[in-house]
Parts: sequence; C-alpha cells; structure tokens
Amino acid sequence: MPVQLTFAAPRRAKPPRHLADLTAAERRDAVVALGERPFRADQLSRHYFQRLEDDPAAMTDLPAAVRDRLVAELLPPLLTPVRELSCDDGMTRKTLWKAFDGTFIESVLMRYPDRVTMCVSSQAGCGMNCPFCATGQAGLTRNLSAAEIVEQVVAGARALMRAGLRPRVSNVVFMGMGEPLANYTAVIGAVRRIVEPGPAGLGISQRSVTVSTVGLVPAIERLAAEGLQVRLAVSLHAPDDDLRDELVPVNTRWKVGEVLEAAWAFARTTTRRVSIEYALIRDINDQAWRADLLGRLLKGHLVHVNLIPLNPTPGSKWTASRPADEREFARRLAAYGVPVTVRDTRGREIDGACGQLAAATTRTNATTS
Ligand code: SAH
Repeated sequence: MPVQLTFAAPRRAKPPRHLADLTAAERRDAVVALGERPFRADQLSRHYFQRLEDDPAAMTDLPAAVRDRLVAELLPPLLTPVRELSCDDGMTRKTLWKAFDGTFIESVLMRYPDRVTMCVSSQAGCGMNCPFCATGQAGLTRNLSAAEIVEQVVAGARALMRAGLRPRVSNVVFMGMGEPLANYTAVIGAVRRIVEPGPAGLGISQRSVTVSTVGLVPAIERLAAEGLQVRLAVSLHAPDDDLRDELVPVNTRWKVGEVLEAAWAFARTTTRRVSIEYALIRDINDQAWRADLLGRLLKGHLVHVNLIPLNPTPGSKWTASRPADEREFARRLAAYGVPVTVRDTRGREIDGACGQLAAATTRTNATTS
C-alpha cells in the first residue's frame, strides 16, 4: 500500500496576526494603518522581544487608550500552557501548549552549563509519517504561524526570567513536532525573527539555530539560498534506500543520494557542517555493515553524525540498540574519519521532544470524550 504523505496543510482557521509574523517595516505599516505613529511599532517590539513582557499594563510608555488597541491588534495571546513537565533536576522542562483553535503543540527548554536550547514545534502534527515517531502517527493538523513558533522561544526566555535566571535562550532547534521545511514560509519568518537583533527580533546567533528535516530536497536548496548561517540537520536514519523507504517514507520521493547531494550543496554554500541524525533502532538499522555503508557515503564531507538511541513510542515493535551495537556503530563511523557523537537523551522520562506528550494528551481526550 502506498504510504500517505501530506505536504499541504489542511485548510483551517488562521492564527491571529501577531507582531512576530511581520518584518520591522511591516510592523510600522500595521501601526500606521491603525492610526498610530510608526515608532509605536518599535515600542511594542521592545516589550515583546527584549523585555519579554506579556502584561499590557506594564507597557507604561504606551498611553493607555493606544495600548489596549495596539496590544489587541499586534500582541494577541497565541499559546496557553496546558501542562508542564520537568526532569533532569529541573534542567529540562517540557510544555504542552494549546493554540487559539484548541490544537496542541509542545516545546522543550533544555539548560546546560554553557547554553540553553529551546526545541520548538513547526507544525501541529506532521505529515511525514515516519513509523518510529510519535508525531508521525497522528498526521498533520495544521501549519503553525511564524509567531506561534517564535512565541515558544519567547516563552522559554520568559520562563528563565521568572525563575530568576539569565533570560537568554542561546540555541533553537526545530526538532519538536512537525517537518519545518514543509511549512517553509512561516519557518523562515520565524528564523528571521529569532536571529534579527533587538528590538526587531530576539538576536540569537544564526549559527545557533538548527533546522532539522526529513530531506525535502527542493526546500533544502531554497534554504541554502536564503543567505542564512543556520545549521541543517538531515534525519537520515538509514544509508540505503530499501530501509529508508520504510523508516522515512518521503525517501520514496527523494532518495538517499539526492538528499545527501542537497546537503553537501548546502554545506558548500553556507560553509556550515551538516548534521546527520540517525536514530539507532535495534536490529533494524544498527548493523555493522550499515555503519560501514554510512561511513563510505559521508567520508570526506563537511558533516557530523548524531546517533540518537531510539525513544520507543507506545506500542512500538522497535526499541533502542544494544549499547555494544551502538558503540560499534559509532566506532566504525569514526574509522572513516566521520565525526560522531551519541545524543544525550534529555527529557526521555517526559517523552522526549518526539510528539509523545501531545500524542498522549490526544489519546486521553479520545478515550474520555
Ligand atoms: N521533521 C523533522 C524535525 C522533527 S523530529 C525531522 O524529521 O528532522 C527531530 C528528530 O527526532 C528527527 O531526527 C527525528 O527523526 C527524531 N525522532 C523522532 N522520533 C524519534 C524517536 N522515537 N526516537 C528517537 N528519535 C526520534
């Protein structure tokens, strides 16, 4: 049976317009269209991106009458927290959010000694149907707007601020729910807001933003031409088309060879090392011969491999590789001169960042309604 892939998001009501959907120039136009002076746009931007303010009453540099209108028009609430889960002594914190239309998405804030990484969702659900991924099982609900993506990062910084910590997210990874390159325009808009210096944006370094993809070749080519210094991560998971057709069904459209060609072209254009994501699944993709095949494909390229022990989804027939097989896989790649690390399993106890919390909530709703 042919696998169903969904590229076009279903038609649904659009999230309300928000300042973070707009460029700085568009914000000024929007403010003028509301009958206000253009500098009000910069005031609003400063509150949102720099002061992380979400209480209109605290925006005292805006006259009260003007404030209510501008906030209603340009800073509407987008996401409401539904559940918070922490682990790793509070260093990892996952939030389940409800959007304006009742859809669920999730984000994960990970604190490390030297950095803070925010893992964001780019879509509610996902249309790529990878059988080992919890998000893939539920299908695509809708694309997120640029502002809904940015808001996850702002909320992370705000949570740090409220905890009395330095309110600074240093890294953003598009590894939550969704296929970012299938929601291209909103994702690029969000990346621009994330990297633009304040007050126009959050001022996070381009090099600290990672866009992770199943390998949508035309979109990788488009991303390379954006003139951004973001990192590209390719979820490969298999070096051969036979297995990858099954693990990452979009491979039936763009084969391993084509995806890697696009990745190398990206590396040449941006001079950035490409990350290859490889979830190690016991006795499925973790054989020594597959490590050798992968090593031969990647050898000599500007690349880094992230091995991720599979986080099994509920009811999955698959599980993580044996530690000895994992070590051997990494050893063989290294023998080809390919840099390789085993990804830490932050947040595993709280269902990682693989759509499992939102999926669990949807399941609970389905059985109780
Ligand atoms: N759609 C994008 C980004 C979201 S997933 C992509 O596929 O790259 C982020 C990463 O988590 C991807 O590499 C994905 O393959 C991986 N992943 C998904 N489910 C997983 C699981 N159950 N265990 C380990 N990694 C998983």
